[in-house]
Amino acid sequence: MFFMTPIEKRNELLAGKVIKSLHTRHIEGYYCASSADAIRQVLSLIPQGSSISWGGSMTIRDMGLTDALHKTGSYTLFDRDLAQSPEEAQAIYRQAFSADFYISSANAMSEQGDIVNVDGNGNRVAAIAWGPKKVIFVVGINKIAKDLDAAIKRARGTAAPINTVRLNRDTPCTLDGVCHDCHSANSICNQIHIVRNSYDNGRFCVVLVGEELGY
Ligand code: SF4
Repeated sequence: MFFMTPIEKRNELLAGKVIKSLHTRHIEGYYCASSADAIRQVLSLIPQGSSISWGGSMTIRDMGLTDALHKTGSYTLFDRDLAQSPEEAQAIYRQAFSADFYISSANAMSEQGDIVNVDGNGNRVAAIAWGPKKVIFVVGINKIAKDLDAAIKRARGTAAPINTVRLNRDTPCTLDGVCHDCHSANSICNQIHIVRNSYDNGRFCVVLVGEELGY
């Protein structure tokens, strides 16, 4: 017999609440207890032959999703990680707008279904807002915050400083791990994007994962 731990049960309950909220915003939601299940879920959502691109998310790389997409050999992939130069990366960012699917994580989500991302370059939030026919968010349960204010605080106060350290940006938060609301030219917080609702066209879906993923 399969028993859930209290944490697993709580994660499933919380995900159920968020998915219900997403439905009121015309956004499909799925819950997967593990990264392996989430990879299978994402692959099942994307028909063979589709073109796919993705943003600079640690979640989708660390969980093995990008590798799994390559291994299928069934898709046309616009993979920015394979770019040999900044110019090539820019070209891939532009190709992403014409992709059938765009995959991203989120820096935070509210229990009510708001999806929050901060971005330096803007290519990720631009593709989320418009362009690719469908957008799939893959989000670790650790990204869920109580409400929109808490989600923005998480994105700016927790995720962003960790990412500046990871990227070794010349920003004040890289020195002390705390957001200073800077106007640095190296800031990764130039764009703050919230998906709060969708046209009722199935463009967005969210795969919540019952694991700590990303920052
Ligand atoms: S200090 Fe600047 S770069 Fe760092 S998290 Fe705050 S706004 Fe973003």
